[in-house]
Parts: sequence; C-alpha cells; structure tokens
Amino acid sequence: MRFAVIGNPIAHSLSPAMHRAAYAALGLEHSYDPMLVTDIGAQINELKTLDGINITVPHKEAMLAYCEADEFARRAGAVNTIDWKSNRGINTDGAGFSDVLARETPGAQSILILGAGGTTRSLALALTQAAYQVTIWNRTESRAHELVTDLEIPARVSSTPQLPGQDVIVNATSAGLTDETLPLDWGEAEPSAVFFDLYYGTEPTQISKTAAEAGLRTIDGRELLIAQGARSFSWWLQREAPVEAMRAAVYG
Ligand code: NDP
Repeated sequence: MRFAVIGNPIAHSLSPAMHRAAYAALGLEHSYDPMLVTDIGAQINELKTLDGINITVPHKEAMLAYCEADEFARRAGAVNTIDWKSNRGINTDGAGFSDVLARETPGAQSILILGAGGTTRSLALALTQAAYQVTIWNRTESRAHELVTDLEIPARVSSTPQLPGQDVIVNATSAGLTDETLPLDWGEAEPSAVFFDLYYGTEPTQISKTAAEAGLRTIDGRELLIAQGARSFSWWLQREAPVEAMRAAVYG
C-alpha cells in the first residue's frame, strides 16, 4: 500500500520516518512519502492514486471538501487522515492529544490552552468531550470567543493567561515558530503543572525553556505527532501501531 503526508512546506516532516519505522517493525512493505502540495485542485487526482494520506499545514481545512469526514472532523473543521478506498476522513489530533494526556498526566482535570487557531479547535473539542475543564486564552480574544461559540463547547475564555490552578498548560500558538515569548508568569503556576508545547523542532522554544527553568515538567509536540500518527496507522491498517518503533524514529 502507498501512503503520504501532504503539506506546504513538507520537507521538515517527521511523519515519513515515523510511519516507515512502523512498517519496518511489523515487516510491512508499505510506502510513506512526503508530498509537497501547492494546489489541491490540480493535484487531487494524483493524491487519489494513493491508499491514504495524512494532511498537515495548510491543507487540513481545505481537504474536508474532498472526503466524507466524520462528525468530529466536520465539527473541528479539519481533517488530517483520509482513506481513499472508502473516501472517509478523520481527525486524529484531538484524540491523539487525549491519549498523551491520559498517559502523561493522569488525574489532570484543568487545562489552559494558549491560542485559538485550527489546532485548538480539535484539541478543545476532544478535551471537553473527555470532560476536562478547558480554559482558552488567545492574543486576539475575540477569536477564542468565536471558537467556543461556534463549537458549542463548555470551555471558558480568559482575557489573560492565568496559570494558578491549571494542571496542564498547552502552547497551541505558533509563537514558538518565531521564538517569540508569551505573557506568562511561570511563578504563578502550580509546581505540579505540566507544560505541553505543541511545537517541536531542533531546539525547545523560548517559552518551553522558561517553563522548564521555573521547574515545570515539559513535553514537546513530538508526543502529539506520535499519538496522532499511531491513531492514523491503526485506522488505515486495522491493527495496533508499534508505538515504540515510531517513537524511536521520531526521537532519532
Ligand atoms: P494557526 O495558525 O491556526 O493559529 C495560530 C495561533 O497562534 C493563533 O491563536 C494566534 O493568535 C497565535 N499566535 C501566533 N503568533 C503569536 C504570538 N506572537 N503571540 C501570541 N499568540 C500568537 O496554527 P495551528 O493551530 O495550526 O498550530 C498551532 C501550533 O501547533 C503550531 O506551532 C504548530 O506547529 C503546532 N502543531 C503541532 C502539531 C504536532 O503534531 N506536534 C500538530 C498541529 C499543530 P491570533 O489569533 O491572535 O493571531
């Protein structure tokens, strides 16, 4: 079978190495390639020659129009996994994130999400469905209100990023990409709080470094990458994903 991850840019993606490691671990001869997609309409026929695709920035929203997305993906407004045989699409970001939280922060209840972009939609939807108490702070506050109203979820919007009482603090802004910081007073965070930065790169973000310096446990976006990838793998191939082989490939 042939799979790919589509995006623009795409060369940086760790998904090919991660999925190839999974196939190798199980003796499967499937392929998984990075594919630069600049124009979905012009490239859709080529994409449909594959068995399935993962979708990353900036195509998760637009690809909804090309598949029969399940209810979660339609509500989240984004699809990240498509099976072309059935033409069905799902979004594994929200459930993947819940998997990581259940494993890494058992007992956590209150979650502060920083940012109100596309990824926050999937996360906030999945986390409120899993009965976490979710608070959202966004630089542009109106976008956070719009997100909560649009999704009809029981999440709070905060005008300032209040850290006291939060079990988990999630950076779902793209501030990490430019190494900008956020207006956070880490001294106010609970000593047991966990900081989850969705960003991952060669170096931790400045935000993550300051959280670690304040004594918080930090987790980076590679754990979400692995968790959402494992869910895509299982959905396509109807078998358990070899998560440790995938993790080893991602942490290199
Ligand atoms: P979007 O572009 O949809 O949203 C960006 C968000 O970041 C907005 O809320 C925006 O606020 C905020 N923002 C941008 N710059 C700043 C800044 N300087 N200060 C404060 N807030 C800022 O992005 P996505 O939701 O798609 O992705 C968010 C992050 O999550 C990215 O870093 C991405 O790489 C990461 N990600 C990681 C995944 C993984 O597998 N590890 C999966 C998916 C995403 P405003 O509304 O005010 O503009």
